[in-house]
Amino acid sequence: MRTYAMTGGATGIGAELKRQLQDGGHTVISVDIKEGDIIADLSTVDGRETAIGGIQRMAPDGLDGFIPCAGLPPVAKPLSLIAQVNYFAVVATVKGLRGLLEKKKGSVLFVSSNSAPMVAVEDSFVQNCLAGDEEAACTEIDGRDGHTAYAGSKRAVTVWMRRHVVEYAAAGVRMNAVAPGITMTPLTDRVFADAELGPVMKEFGDSVPVGRPAQPVDIANVMRFMLSDEASYLCGSVFFVDGGSDAMMRADDF
Ligand code: NAD
Repeated sequence: MRTYAMTGGATGIGAELKRQLQDGGHTVISVDIKEGDIIADLSTVDGRETAIGGIQRMAPDGLDGFIPCAGLPPVAKPLSLIAQVNYFAVVATVKGLRGLLEKKKGSVLFVSSNSAPMVAVEDSFVQNCLAGDEEAACTEIDGRDGHTAYAGSKRAVTVWMRRHVVEYAAAGVRMNAVAPGITMTPLTDRVFADAELGPVMKEFGDSVPVGRPAQPVDIANVMRFMLSDEASYLCGSVFFVDGGSDAMMRADDF
C-alpha cells in the first residue's frame, strides 16, 4: 500500500480524493488550515515549513505521491492570499518534499483549473509568480482583479510544473496536473454567492457541454487514476476534466 501526502484534504475535491485513496488501503497525510493530520496556514512561510516538516516526520521512508490541492477562490480577500496559497505554497511544498518523493520515485499531481489558459503567460502577475518574487506578485495582484489572481495563479503553477518536468523526471519524480472545470464544492459556493462573479460563474456552469457542473467525485476519480500504476508513463500532462468547456472555448488551441 502507498503513502500519499496532500494539502486541502478537509473539504471538496481534496476530501473526496483522500476518501478514495484511504478506501483503497493507502495512507494519506493531510495538511489543511481547518482539519487534518497537520494543521498549517499555507499562506505563510511558517505554515509551509510546518507542513513540510510534519510530512517529513510522518513519512520518513518517502512518498509515493504528493497532491498540493489546497486553493482559494477568486473571491478571497485580499487577493494576495490567492497568490500565496494557490501558487507560492504549492511551489514551496513541492520543492520541500522533493527528497521524500525521490526516495520512492513518487509523483506530484498539481491541481490547476480550466481557467488557467484565460490569463496569458506574458501577464506581469504570472511572470512575477514564475520569477519567485512573492512580494512583487502579492503587491501587484492586490491592485488587480479576482479572475486574474485565480486564473493567473493556476496558469503560473501549471507553467512551473511544465518547466520543471524534465529536471524532476531525471530525479525519478513525475509531475502532472489536473485542470477541473466548475465543481460543486465550498469554494464554488463562495463564488456563486458573490454579487459580481456569481452570475458569471452560474452562466459558465450552465454552458458546460455535458450539461452539468462536476461533482468532486468526477474530478477525484481521474486524479486517483493519474496517481495509480496504470498512469506510470504520464509525465508533464495536463488533464482537463471539465465536461468539455475547454474544448468549447479553445477548440483549435491545444
Ligand atoms: P474547497 O474550498 O472545498 O477546498 C480547498 C481546501 O483548501 C479546503 O480544505 C481549505 O481548508 C484548504 N485551504 C484553503 N486555504 C488554506 C490555507 N491557507 N492553508 C491550508 N489549507 C487551506 O475547494 P475545492 O473546490 O475542493 O478546491 C480544491 C482545489 O481545486 C483548489 O486548488 C481549487 O483551486 C481547485 N479547483 C476547483 C474548482 C472548482 O470549481 N471547485 C475548479 C478548478 C480548480
